[in-house]
Amino acid sequence: MNPQPVTTVRLTPAAARTVATELRTADHATETGGILLGHHSADVVTIHHAGTPGPAAVRTPTYFLRDRAHAQMLADQAFAADGSVWIGEWHTHPTGRPIPSARDTATYQQLLGDPELGFTSVVALTLAPRDGQWTGTAWVAHDRGVATAALELLKPHPRNEATGRLH
Ligand SMILES: [Zn+2]
Repeated sequence: MNPQPVTTVRLTPAAARTVATELRTADHATETGGILLGHHSADVVTIHHAGTPGPAAVRTPTYFLRDRAHAQMLADQAFAADGSVWIGEWHTHPTGRPIPSARDTATYQQLLGDPELGFTSVVALTLAPRDGQWTGTAWVAHDRGVATAALELLKPHPRNEATGRLH
């Protein structure tokens, strides 16, 4: 199997909602984030689930590292739900730009180098505030470096939205 390089990252409404909730409720004195789970097809990655940081996440003003045990639990749940696999991570830069830092890039290279995880690329979504709003950019790390990817937010399906509403 030799998947094509990722050029587009699509975020489903459910995944976007998890990120939006964390952005709204987190203390932005430190970075926050989580893992991304979904499917890679041709050159498109569709993110069906976004993770929360987890109780053991490392959160400093300039660094975020997900809680590995929490991530594994989310990965197991997502795989059982719809076959989603761990494809990357999202995190914030509360005082910086939405660009992976040198330390972020080193983390992605570490994930790529772990044969147990079997990553051929790591999708990274970085978020930073701009004009009072969180702005996200998508990145794809592979063994030759990090490149930008197009980020698309999928619109909620009208019918799914109706059935998903709580009364
Ligand atoms: Zn970072």
